[in-house]
Amino acid sequence: MLLQHKIEGVKKLLEERNIELKEWEGLAEYTTIKIGGRVSLMIFPETIEEAICVLNACFEKALEPFVIGGGSNLLAGDNDFEGMVLNLRKLKGIKVVEEGKDICKLRVMAGTMINQVISFGLKRGLSGPEFLAGVPASLGGAVKMNAGAFGRKMAEIVKKVRLWRNGRIFWLVPQEEDWEYRNFKQEGVILEVELELKKVGKEALRHRVCDFLKERILKQPLGKRTFGSVFKNPEGDFAGRLIEKCGLKGKRIGDARISEKHANFIENLGKARAAHVLELMALARESVFKNFGVLLEPEVRFLACGIN
Ligand SMILES: Cc1cc2nc3c(=O)[nH]c(=O)nc-3n(C[C@H](O)[C@H](O)[C@H](O)COP(=O)(O)OP(=O)(O)OC[C@H]3O[C@@H](n4cnc5c(N)ncnc54)[C@H](O)[C@@H]3O)c2cc1C
Repeated sequence: MLLQHKIEGVKKLLEERNIELKEWEGLAEYTTIKIGGRVSLMIFPETIEEAICVLNACFEKALEPFVIGGGSNLLAGDNDFEGMVLNLRKLKGIKVVEEGKDICKLRVMAGTMINQVISFGLKRGLSGPEFLAGVPASLGGAVKMNAGAFGRKMAEIVKKVRLWRNGRIFWLVPQEEDWEYRNFKQEGVILEVELELKKVGKEALRHRVCDFLKERILKQPLGKRTFGSVFKNPEGDFAGRLIEKCGLKGKRIGDARISEKHANFIENLGKARAAHVLELMALARESVFKNFGVLLEPEVRFLACGIN
């Protein structure tokens, strides 16, 4: 009741400011695996000022909204829940802030999709995040997860991050220790990011993007409903290899299936529920532990699944 009352307070304020919100909005639509119940309030800021206004309003009421970018590494629970989601999909924009002979610095809003940043680079021959070509992530999410592929990671191209943390807004220059495998350790909501891209020429970049895409299409179930890698790769090994060795490729529970193409992906074949995905994850974890003594750690983040 108290929670509902607080959410009502935030809602009223945001309505007064004309900030877009939706009540009892289904989460499935906003996650790439297309699973999830409804949340009582989802908010869609379109500008940095709106995002700050939402975050401050929540902070004043001691509410912590869950931030969603592309929803491409997210499992949302099956049941409806009372809470708030800050959906950054409309917080988009890219601008050049500095240009030198060999480099170009871009300021990009957190909700901009990584593929839009790559397209921007393609038009100007700017190389940076193309190792993520085809990944349905937002820039903010890619930074938060320190997304990586083909030996590259976001940490290498991020120069500055604009964060909202406990009512404070500031630019941070990340240091090496702020990054770890699939995580940017600094707390807070990422509002904007400054990226440093290298001028490599349009043709060279086009080839690079094509090569990365081809490789990805070959190895991953791209185009299926998934949330990317289920588990982090353990030191010196691959979660997919271990799960495959346990004979679990193609294992199905309900409409959730361990991909036949890549065992560290789970596909929603139609009406999969979060409970089915969690069962498959538990099975993969137990099997890998039993057979190899390795405890896999989830890479996917959870929302209203009863897991932190
Ligand atoms: C087909 C496919 C291929 C993929 N391939 C790769 C790959 O090669 N490499 C890789 O690393 N990942 C991969 N992923 C996983 C996923 O795309 C990445 O983890 C990505 O970084 C998630 O970004 P997102 O915007 O979708 O984040 P979301 O899924 O929306 O959120 C993920 C987490 O980040 C937090 N978050 C999101 N935005 C912000 C913000 N602005 N501020 C603070 N926190 C925020 C969320 O609260 C959540 O905890 C793949 C996924 C798919 C579906």
